[in-house]
Amino acid sequence: MTPLLDNYKALVEAVAYSSRESRQLLPQILVASKTQPPEVLETMLAQGHRLFGENQVQEAHYKWPPLKQRYPDCRLHLIGSLQTNKVKQAIQLFDVIETLDRPKLAYALARSFRNLNIRRDLLIQVNTGREPQKSGVMPEDFYSLLHLAYNLKLPIIGLMCIPPVNSDPIPHFTMLRSLARTHGLSHLSMGMSDDYRAAISHGTSWIRIGTALFGQK
Ligand SMILES: *Cc1c(COP(=O)(O)O)cnc(C)c1O
Repeated sequence: MTPLLDNYKALVEAVAYSSRESRQLLPQILVASKTQPPEVLETMLAQGHRLFGENQVQEAHYKWPPLKQRYPDCRLHLIGSLQTNKVKQAIQLFDVIETLDRPKLAYALARSFRNLNIRRDLLIQVNTGREPQKSGVMPEDFYSLLHLAYNLKLPIIGLMCIPPVNSDPIPHFTMLRSLARTHGLSHLSMGMSDDYRAAISHGTSWIRIGTALFGQK
């Protein structure tokens, strides 16, 4: 076995263990495959893995269409921020957009859904750490964005966050879970290589994993 497949197997086991220990539902592993070449993705697809996340529309546009053709049941999430001029391309490539974070993007998504007659499940990204340089809606603006999304009939299924680096992620996971519960949203995307166990114990639906599989860049 290659180190990648060893890492994958170990991760699958660790995730199952964490969810049993914390008596939470088993989350799905979203493989964060940014910068990974098609051969690597192919290795994981051949092994049976079907759920991936990419950060950039452009990169995904080059890498994924041939792979999707060979593995039509694979699912792709956009986990990086989305510019409004890329919305049309994004909703044709991705099954789920995790990074709705501002009114302008909500309007653009609604317009493209209508024009192309497609709908994609959406997550709202919340800037739980209130970091100015980071994307995600500020917690105090969350409700008005959700309200707008509902008015535009956007299918919001959950929330996503990226906690600040080098800080305890638990308050962020707790905030995201409580926002989701308050508003009746059932899915959470939180937890990465360093903190997925904590995210699992806070009931996440998806963990987004890169480094634990591919190693440090
Ligand atoms: C790259 C990336 C990840 C994966 O992070 P690791 O720490 O490498 O597991 C998760 N979420 C997002 C949004 C990413 O860009």
